[in-house]
Amino acid sequence: MSVMTPARTTGKPTDHRTTEVDITTLPWPLQQVIETALEGARNAPTNDEYFRHMRTVITASGIHTSRGEAARCACDCMCDVLYDADDPDAHLFHDGVREVPQCPGCADDHRGRDAE
Ligand SMILES: [Zn+2]
Ligand SMILES: [Zn+2]
Repeated sequence: MSVMTPARTTGKPTDHRTTEVDITTLPWPLQQVIETALEGARNAPTNDEYFRHMRTVITASGIHTSRGEAARCACDCMCDVLYDADDPDAHLFHDGVREVPQCPGCADDHRGRDAE
């Protein structure tokens, strides 16, 4: 599967799709909405409920996702990036205690490895 990256042509803002955002740069009320919706998604009893919360997260954060799922970086560096969960550059590993999603930047910078 090849993912086409939209060409960055100047003067055409519609071509620019952000797939990640640092949550801490967003206005506080939006951060609250995102936190609440992420929590709701984590505890969602059904898929419908899960995606309903995900839509809230995505709308509030303004990121573009390929399949309607966003993930929040839980890397040790305290990064607060929210990103497209299906971003091929993102990374998910298990540190022995829990699954840790890493945003593309962290995966590139200090990629986590599964515990034995
Ligand atoms: Zn990160
Ligand atoms: Zn990191």
